[in-house]
Amino acid sequence: MIETKIFHMSQIEEAANILKNGGLVAMPTETVYGLAANALNGEAVAKIFAAKGRPSDNPLIVHVADVDDIFRFNLVSDFPKQAANLAKHFWPGPLTIVLPRTDAIPNEVSAGLDTVAIRLPNHPMARALIKTADLPLAAPSANISGSPSPTTAQHVLKDLNGKIDGILDGGNCLVGVESTVISLCEDKPRLLRPGGITLRQLKEVLGDVLVDDAVLHQLKEGQKASSPGMKYKHYAPKAKVILLKGDRSAYIDYVNKNADNHCLALCYYEDVPGLLVKSEAFGSEYDDSEQARLLFDKLRKIDEMNDISTVYARCPNPDGIGMAVYNRLIRAAGFREVDL
Ligand code: AMP
Ligand code: MG
Repeated sequence: MIETKIFHMSQIEEAANILKNGGLVAMPTETVYGLAANALNGEAVAKIFAAKGRPSDNPLIVHVADVDDIFRFNLVSDFPKQAANLAKHFWPGPLTIVLPRTDAIPNEVSAGLDTVAIRLPNHPMARALIKTADLPLAAPSANISGSPSPTTAQHVLKDLNGKIDGILDGGNCLVGVESTVISLCEDKPRLLRPGGITLRQLKEVLGDVLVDDAVLHQLKEGQKASSPGMKYKHYAPKAKVILLKGDRSAYIDYVNKNADNHCLALCYYEDVPGLLVKSEAFGSEYDDSEQARLLFDKLRKIDEMNDISTVYARCPNPDGIGMAVYNRLIRAAGFREVDL
């Protein structure tokens, strides 16, 4: 057990020193909280995997404060024009770009792959921390592997208290789901994970973008995941989650007919008045950004309720940021989906 200190903006220097000395600090980003370590120090990065209980074959995203850092720290062996274009449009922001790596990247970061995922976050505290430490920071979500990603400092504390050196408290995360991940290491750009930057936005800049099978579908036995993180059943609450696909009245009818006292409806605000059972709303049907922002907090809240065995979740519309909301919820549901 180590003491986990809570830091505020005025204590950035103290937090940065921990990172320089090979320690772990959780930091707020606009997507979710990240658990940061010096990305150039394999031993420091190994501590991230230990603290999270993360499978060692799941690589980490490297965070920088400026595009120039990518070259200054010699992180990639190629930075194609498409990467420059994406950077110009979406950085700083919730987009991660997978590129060919150099030997400066320790094996722990890339989990044995010959590529590295890079992101320039748009959060003043994350950027100040990276700048003050003057290091690229490897940072996966700051949760125990398998629990929902943290969107508040309290979520991080709940999962990692006593296991990490500090948490930089920056309040609530604005996007609420992890970054969009796109690979530029193949013939065509490939979306590996949907997030705050939408497929349409990517296509506007790049033209054609392939969507990896694992984004919307369950991988078949033996099918290789382009993004190793996609093969794990993430974000799994204790209760059994079932996604119900249909319009409001079909959803309300189904839940009211099938639910008992140990069921909960994870729904939109607009569904609540019609429901006869306990419910938690994860935003408005008409606001996919709000759904993304609230989803993980709701999943954590449901986990804290002891008497819930089944969650009937309203299936998000998989368009725009809704694609990310759907991608996370279908995993929480272990791909259980009922077409109403
Ligand atoms: P997290 O930081 O918890 O959001 O997880 C990082 C995500 O990025 C995981 O889904 C990883 O599989 C993915 N990722 C990181 N590095 C790479 C890479 N080099 N190639 C493909 N996916 C990656
Ligand atoms: Mg994660």
